[in-house]
Amino acid sequence: MKMKAAILKQLNTPLVIEEVELDEPKDHELLVKLVATGLCHSDIHCIKGDLSTPPPVVLGHEGAGVVEKVGKNVTDVQVGDKVVVTVAPYCGKCPACMMGVPTSCETDPQTAMLMGSMADGTKRLRSSSGEEISHFMAQSSFAEYAVVEESATVKVRDDAPLDIVCLLGCGASTGIGAVINKARVKAGSSVAVFGCGGVGLAAIMAAKLSGAHPIVAVDVLDSKLEVAREFGATNLVNASKEDPVMKIAAECEGGVDYSFEAIGKTEIMTQAFHSVYPRPGGMAVVLGLAPIGETFSIEAWRFMREVVITGCTVGSIRPKVDIPRYINLFMAGKLPLDKMVSAHYPLEKINDAINDMLEGTIIRGVITF
Ligand SMILES: [Zn+2]
Ligand SMILES: [Zn+2]
Repeated sequence: MKMKAAILKQLNTPLVIEEVELDEPKDHELLVKLVATGLCHSDIHCIKGDLSTPPPVVLGHEGAGVVEKVGKNVTDVQVGDKVVVTVAPYCGKCPACMMGVPTSCETDPQTAMLMGSMADGTKRLRSSSGEEISHFMAQSSFAEYAVVEESATVKVRDDAPLDIVCLLGCGASTGIGAVINKARVKAGSSVAVFGCGGVGLAAIMAAKLSGAHPIVAVDVLDSKLEVAREFGATNLVNASKEDPVMKIAAECEGGVDYSFEAIGKTEIMTQAFHSVYPRPGGMAVVLGLAPIGETFSIEAWRFMREVVITGCTVGSIRPKVDIPRYINLFMAGKLPLDKMVSAHYPLEKINDAINDMLEGTIIRGVITF
């Protein structure tokens, strides 16, 4: 079929809206008519060449829409279902999947995905001249339609506003899941969140929902810290003006119970670990992706107090279980996902949306179709 899509033709250039060809869904795949898609920092990483996905590529990986057609052997969803599409297709059979952490699935789908293909290693997107176009995270939602993996789709309730819950396909689930699923933050415990972009704000709203207090937000921009306060942060630390480790120790009885690194910088991972009070149960959770090969130092004596530092991919969620739960919490007024969406754009304005995100004038922009 023919459809409109925003294509990255070369690294570090604006996206170009063109008509492209999209092939039929194959086994365990389905066609989604997109209603909305979030814009996430990983899209920008790809534009800058930080990821391995080769251009030309249709970006976009926080899509939500309606199932238009199903391929063979699709059993989880039907035509007409409303779905959120996640960045985490999984096999359901590998050790990580069997351990209940499908976001760390160890099989080929994710490798193929990083190289711009669907799980089977082939592509469904072509230019009008017949040139193959890469998929992004097996999704490519900056387009009117997307062929996606069945395992990456989550059926959602009919009254869920897709232009808000689309954020749960990647960024919002990463922050919320880190707090609720990975750290299992307990009521009355203290939390520090480093980085107040979309992922950090999602972690802050989940920490508030979990009953954490105090909740310390750390960033280098006062404007972002003020937004963090609206999401539930009780203490604000501007890391460009004061040492966050010292400040957190002073304000939180020597350190917090849980810290979350939502930026992807190794020096901040060090700070996040050193901000945790050294006692059993203390945990630093790294959500951000640092450039491959980078290392960092932490004070080893802290392990004598059984403090933990751990990674967390896409919030360690079980997508088909947790995303509907997060949506129920949002619909009940307990997770203010709608506050994260500061602007809507039509697909034609996608380069404006990218610029606004780069300049930090929006929390999250959503493209609607
Ligand atoms: Zn993302
Ligand atoms: Zn797996």
